[in-house]
Amino acid sequence: MRRTRVVATIGPSSWDQEILATMFSSGVNVFRLNYSHGEPEEKDILYDRIRSLENANRTTCILADLPGPKLRLGKFEGSRVLRSGDNIRLLCGLKTHEGEEFPVEYDGLSQELTKGDQILLADGIIRLSVISTGGKKASFVDCLVEDGGTLTSRKGINVPGTMVDLPAVGERDLLALDHAIKAGADWVAVSYVRTAEDLKPARDAIRSAGLHTPIIAKIEHPAALENLDSILDAADGVMVARGDLGVEIPMEQVPLAQQQIIDAALTRGMVAIVATQMLESMTLAPRPTRAEVSDVSTAIRHGGTAVMLSGETASGNYPIASVETMVKIAEATEDGLTSTGLIPGGPSRFRATRAVAHAGVELAKMSGAKHIVVATRHGNAPRLVSGYRPDVLVTAVTDRIRAARRMNLLPGVQSVIIKEYERGSQTMQEAIQKLAKDGVVKSGERIVAISGSPLAMRGATSTVRLYRLESDGTISGTE
Ligand code: PGA
Ligand code: MN
Repeated sequence: MRRTRVVATIGPSSWDQEILATMFSSGVNVFRLNYSHGEPEEKDILYDRIRSLENANRTTCILADLPGPKLRLGKFEGSRVLRSGDNIRLLCGLKTHEGEEFPVEYDGLSQELTKGDQILLADGIIRLSVISTGGKKASFVDCLVEDGGTLTSRKGINVPGTMVDLPAVGERDLLALDHAIKAGADWVAVSYVRTAEDLKPARDAIRSAGLHTPIIAKIEHPAALENLDSILDAADGVMVARGDLGVEIPMEQVPLAQQQIIDAALTRGMVAIVATQMLESMTLAPRPTRAEVSDVSTAIRHGGTAVMLSGETASGNYPIASVETMVKIAEATEDGLTSTGLIPGGPSRFRATRAVAHAGVELAKMSGAKHIVVATRHGNAPRLVSGYRPDVLVTAVTDRIRAARRMNLLPGVQSVIIKEYERGSQTMQEAIQKLAKDGVVKSGERIVAISGSPLAMRGATSTVRLYRLESDGTISGTE
């Protein structure tokens, strides 16, 4: 089984039911819905379409990506070409505007800029320099176009070196978060995290909804690199968001930052998604460049647990070919891949569970077990087990589809849904029997079972057992 997870962003190129179905069967593990685009309710239909792909053997996983305090242009019709040497005006505090000028949602932008400052648009493709700022009621920024390009509605704006005074989770984020929680998103990504505090509003909202949805911190602002340790201690996973990171810090520093972020995640046993421009040329071409193939492979070899497609699947011409290519690179890279050697050691919000998870992984190694089965209610125990990168198949055992769905982002983890029995050992044996019936566990193989006690799923994780599937179909090693 492929361990590396493939995350695909859904947009106009991929939101048809048939394309979603083909992407799923081609190996997409996680569908990413980007709340920076469109109104939250417009995502309802996507949740329905994606969930409708589920069958008895496979669940779907939806990552809701919140907009975050990212500056964006407002809305305008069509696309407009900017040429080097042009003068343009940004009108601040406008959600939408038709005319010569370009709308910018954030009304404080003109106050934060002075003559000569650089502004980057559309992931840094277009570069402007500030000529002057002014206006009272409606403030404006006049700019000279240094490097031109084509601009469309709601493109990102970066002002490197400034910390714009926007809340981490603003009004738009709260609406998105509320929608994602109600719609049943399996993971939530928080954009433009600057400090650990920035994760709190999302964590609080999830908690007060009575949920345990795990949170991904997107690292795309220089402040996040400085506060990396505290941010990761407060998150459940991390994304190397190279699109914005590569504009906010010099591009040539991104590869080292990527490694630093992955290493910090690995030492905490967290998922690390490497994102943006991975197969960029496939937005327009059916085959990637050799350099892109190498980039995806490098991300995996360096310890990334998931690789992400953005524009390639959201708005490109070859969404399915992009997925197929990503899957092929992951499979080829994993062939003979050995672990990076980094294992969780730092602090954790789940100390006891992690210690038991570690014991189970060690037992699997020493006993030559081929499988680890781990009971879970909310998905935390399998997450901690997978953090040790055991090189055997990990199966999460749960009676809750919500937990099973979350597992799809964990490297090397699959899940089975069975009911909870009165005794933990029975639950684990039933799970192993099911795996045996499905041909996953073979006769003679050893299995490490990690569970709670006395209830496997609902008890606190505390118990490690070693089983063996005998040739007559019985399970030995019971108590
Ligand atoms: P975005 O995040 O696609 O939401 O901007 C990823 C990135 O910045 O790389
Ligand atoms: Mn970004």
